[in-house]
Amino acid sequence: MVKSLRAEIISIGTELLLGEIVDTNSTYLSQELRDLGIFVFRKTTIGDNRARLAAEIKEALDRSDIVIVGGGLGPTDDDLTREAIADVYDEEPEVNAHLLEELEKMFSRRNRKMPETNNKQAWLIPSAIALENPIGTACGWLVNKNNKILAAMPGPPHEMKRMWREKVLPHLPQTNSVLFHETLHTIGIGEGDLAEAIKDFTRSQNPSVGTYARGNGVDVRIAASAGNLAEAKSIAKPFIDKISALLKDYVYGTNGKTIVESIKEMLIKNGQTIATIESITGGALASDFTACSGISKCYVGGAVTYCNEMKVQMGVEAEIINEFGVVSRETAIAMADAAKKQFKVDWAISTTGVAGPDSLDGKKPGYAWVGLAGPDATVGYELDWPGEREMVIKRVRRMALMTIFNSLKESR
Ligand code: ATP
Ligand code: MG
Repeated sequence: MVKSLRAEIISIGTELLLGEIVDTNSTYLSQELRDLGIFVFRKTTIGDNRARLAAEIKEALDRSDIVIVGGGLGPTDDDLTREAIADVYDEEPEVNAHLLEELEKMFSRRNRKMPETNNKQAWLIPSAIALENPIGTACGWLVNKNNKILAAMPGPPHEMKRMWREKVLPHLPQTNSVLFHETLHTIGIGEGDLAEAIKDFTRSQNPSVGTYARGNGVDVRIAASAGNLAEAKSIAKPFIDKISALLKDYVYGTNGKTIVESIKEMLIKNGQTIATIESITGGALASDFTACSGISKCYVGGAVTYCNEMKVQMGVEAEIINEFGVVSRETAIAMADAAKKQFKVDWAISTTGVAGPDSLDGKKPGYAWVGLAGPDATVGYELDWPGEREMVIKRVRRMALMTIFNSLKESR
């Protein structure tokens, strides 16, 4: 096995600690480092406190090869990253004439005079080089000392990402390890059952296999590292093939492909169209479809028929609703049939259910039906899974998409 480099990410800012903003920067950096085959050893969040920050950076440099610090490069008193880094290397920051000139230019281009407080954004310590920031006032710092790299970047995500790509990446040591990974997206199988199905593979180190529960099902990520990409791929390939075969009834896509994209591809291939008619999901299903680009080739539109009268107006017989209740197999089927007719499509999908927190017609929150009218028949699928309103709606949405996906797969 090739030895991989260790990295740590330190996110700075009291607002991160208090949960006022979400730390998306470290997620981005984790993914980037992962793809470079660099091992992310630890992530830390720390408030705007010079002593704690310096202590943390020092420890991180003792443990890891690469330390990436984000935030706290602004001009104000609570932006203390530069001070803390200077403490770590026991150096004095000084105003750098070139940086100061650039900073002053940036202000004058915006017809503003640079406030005195911004001076510190032109600081540098002898061990650091400045990382230019063409889209903000805070330049970054990079120190390469004792075989360890420390990079400090500004907090605003677009500034950080650009600096990372353009200024930090070129300084990172070449690893002799490359990572290849593939993610299988599944739907219709729980995390426990999935883990059971692939248990012969999950203890392996290289390739490694991880499962992650997501809003739209469970992902399986297979990753392998090796000296080059072709080799890493060939290590991962047998695992990808075997796991894909085991999960073939559940995989709807790989590497970021959404279930709606898969549905779209099958519909276009069949030369078929689809429409939605929604009660409990209130249009959410329609927006799942329209979130997918190019969907207008097969998705014609949808109706939100929230009250009974609207269902009747779309063509559902009032007697069906009266006899079986609005949340029933019969109503779900009648809705799907009505939409298929009104929209003149090959497929129509309906949702009806109790979102809660109150019960409806003696039916409890989490009770729902999805109806699917297809070229040959119309079927209903029951869901009975209590939960919070938001979760219930999400599950019905997911079930509706899964239902259409499975039916299209079977009709191939
Ligand atoms: P500035 O010059 O803008 O003050 P800075 O380097 O001091 O830059 P911060 O003050 O720490 O950066 O953060 C500025 C803004 O960037 C935050 O208010 C927040 O919106 C965003 N930000 C900071 N850190 C993160 C992070 N880890 N994830 C996502 N957004 C972040
Ligand atoms: Mg700031």
